[in-house]
Amino acid sequence: MTSSARPLLNRRLAEFGTTIFAEMSALALRTGSINLGQGFPDTDGPEEVREAAVRALRDGRGNQYPPGPGIPELRTAVAAHQQRRYGLAVDPDTEVLVTAGATEAIAAALLALVEPGDEVIAFEPYYDSYAACIAMAGGTRVPVTLRPRDGRFRLDLDELRDAVTDRTRLLLINTPHNPTGTVLTREELTAIAELAVERDLLVVTDEVYEHLVFDDAEHVPLATLPGMRERTVTISSAGKTFSFTGWKVGWVTSAPDLVAAVRSAKQYLTYVASGPFQYAVAEALALPDSYFEAFRADMLAKRDVLAAGLADAGFAVFRTAGTYFITTDIRPLGESDGFAFCRALPERAGVVAIPNAVFYDHREAGAPYVRFAFCKRTEVLADAAERLRMAFTH
Ligand SMILES: *Cc1c(COP(=O)(O)O)cnc(C)c1O
Repeated sequence: MTSSARPLLNRRLAEFGTTIFAEMSALALRTGSINLGQGFPDTDGPEEVREAAVRALRDGRGNQYPPGPGIPELRTAVAAHQQRRYGLAVDPDTEVLVTAGATEAIAAALLALVEPGDEVIAFEPYYDSYAACIAMAGGTRVPVTLRPRDGRFRLDLDELRDAVTDRTRLLLINTPHNPTGTVLTREELTAIAELAVERDLLVVTDEVYEHLVFDDAEHVPLATLPGMRERTVTISSAGKTFSFTGWKVGWVTSAPDLVAAVRSAKQYLTYVASGPFQYAVAEALALPDSYFEAFRADMLAKRDVLAAGLADAGFAVFRTAGTYFITTDIRPLGESDGFAFCRALPERAGVVAIPNAVFYDHREAGAPYVRFAFCKRTEVLADAAERLRMAFTH
């Protein structure tokens, strides 16, 4: 214990002391509630992928430091995936970097590309690590607020244009978007691309939910649009797509100079990670289309179970076009403060959710919204829905 009056946590990180997820998960445990707060699946991914990890471990592949950029098998599989899915030709040797999940990829990209004082534009509500990583890089975050219109959260392109200044270095984009479930349309992405080219901005895109798009939504990687390949750092990960969030295998694809820059930061964060899992994820990425289709159909059915349950309980439900989250508005329940609502919800209904306000700088803009995760077994979702209905309609 230091006796100095100086706080231990530095000024850059002072506002990021503890995450809401820790508080809410503890509350779930203490009250025996169903935890629809944190977004991780309650069943593991494909058995053959798990077996591939066991085989790699037993065969002694990846038990020692793998190569810094990632094992060649995985880099090749990532490149093949980009080609097969999106028609994007990526050189596995110079244009792919394997990371410790998307989280490290985001951190390394920001640490590598942002100079202290640079402005970084991110949509709010934003994934919580963005703000912390921008702060660690010494950047200034400039939030552009997504606002509900016609049942979904939308980007105001004029607001985005107005947010760009001479100090703007990069746009940090997330689509499909956590927590709102919005998937940016090709038109929106085209406008973002034109702005990036016009103002000579770098773009970092977080596409970890690329395989979770529903109904008529389409995932369009920004890097496929004109002028974007050479200025976009594309990030994805195995955690969400294959339901192995504990493995922490992610990757960056980009132009060689951008990959080299991100690698420079990455090598001093973890250097390398997840050796045997890299072999398993290389196999997972090569699974037939039927895997990805079944995964999507399963999550879509879960979305519909939870969305119907939330609507029955009286929440206003925004349509989730992608991700495994549903954002709701609690005002039809006569509530307006998502924080207070989520702190009381475990006692009141035996369910845990997350107040979207934690993902905002303009907390008042997010106050009435609450996020539920539906990456859980159907019977768990049905149970949660019933508990909510009992709590709010009786
Ligand atoms: C889960 C998530 C991540 C983190 O991915 P990992 O591969 O587990 O590090 C990044 N971005 C978003 C939007 C997420 O929801």
